[in-house]
Amino acid sequence: MSTEQLIENTKELVAIPSTAQDPAALHQALGFVASMIWEARPDVTIERFISNDKPSLLAYREGQRPANFDLILNGHLDVVPGNPEQFTAVEKDGRLYGRGVYDMKAACVALTNVFCEYVNKVPYPLGLQIVTDEESAGKDGTLYQIQQGVRSDFVICGESGRSTNTYEIANEAKGIVLARIAFGGVAAHSAYPWKGDNAALKAVQFIQRLHDCYPTPEEETDQTVAGVTAIISDSGAHSKVPDHATVTFIARNAVGDANFVDEQTFINFIKTLAPEAQITEISEFGMPIYSNPRNPKLQALKAAAERTEGKPFKLVQRHGTGDGRFYANIGSEACEFGIAGEHAHGDGEYITIEAFDNYLTTMRNFFDTSIRGSADDRADP
Ligand SMILES: [Zn+2]
Repeated sequence: MSTEQLIENTKELVAIPSTAQDPAALHQALGFVASMIWEARPDVTIERFISNDKPSLLAYREGQRPANFDLILNGHLDVVPGNPEQFTAVEKDGRLYGRGVYDMKAACVALTNVFCEYVNKVPYPLGLQIVTDEESAGKDGTLYQIQQGVRSDFVICGESGRSTNTYEIANEAKGIVLARIAFGGVAAHSAYPWKGDNAALKAVQFIQRLHDCYPTPEEETDQTVAGVTAIISDSGAHSKVPDHATVTFIARNAVGDANFVDEQTFINFIKTLAPEAQITEISEFGMPIYSNPRNPKLQALKAAAERTEGKPFKLVQRHGTGDGRFYANIGSEACEFGIAGEHAHGDGEYITIEAFDNYLTTMRNFFDTSIRGSADDRADP
């Protein structure tokens, strides 16, 4: 499909207000992408998934789902809420404005199109995974599909993050760990505090020790950042020492941090800070997204982007995470490579038409190389 047609498709998709608050629109947006696939490639298999009313799909070459894909292209169609006018995409001065154009409906359209062009040509199992819940945790989309047995050696997430005039692929993104930690104490009359044991104080001491390990960085850092987003302790009366406190913990964990190798090392770390801490909930344990710079597919993607745009591309780390973390948790490599734009989640969200075109060219280049590579292998005696 031409860039112009694909831009029209993106505009139609933007007009579907697929926020988490509108389940019908999530289904409609996914249906739109499924129709794009059917029209271009009636022979491919489209598997539909649904979890907690969040639909997602996985498309691949006709037949049974492979036990393991070599490559999955991953994208999400859900968007954060926007102003009503943002749901009408507008082209102006070489830019396409609209809610979700950058994060990440245009990339979904582009990835769907190149998937259809190449799924039957590439010499390996290629999957297209489109979900509708990335902005609301991703557990019913990408994670749900992984729980249903979907596996891939490598994943390219078309996630936003690349600004205009930057030339980069994120081969790393910090993970995310969310936990609730409780401290018990002994209630007493506040006039006789020696008779009690103040739980609020234990929580504060814990936070101080955590802060000693992970001080607030003074500038941007590629290291783990960790802290708390809530401290709750209320005895209910000014005359009572509290016997309970809870702390909401969050970390953005970097690759190689020994405190976040797995849930057990995290629990051990918390216990070294405060042996009496009770970890009552780990609601999220996301490993950092990572691809080895020597991963041949990552290298091929980088080379394709460089050929397309005529600039050296850097491999970079993102501070926030995305659905790629679910692949990181099962030991697969993933990267984020999206269409250059600005203002994800903001009022002036846009991509440039040139960036959209470059993205298509890069992805086609990338797949052409793998086809040529396999032809060369066969020619090799
Ligand atoms: Zn996104």
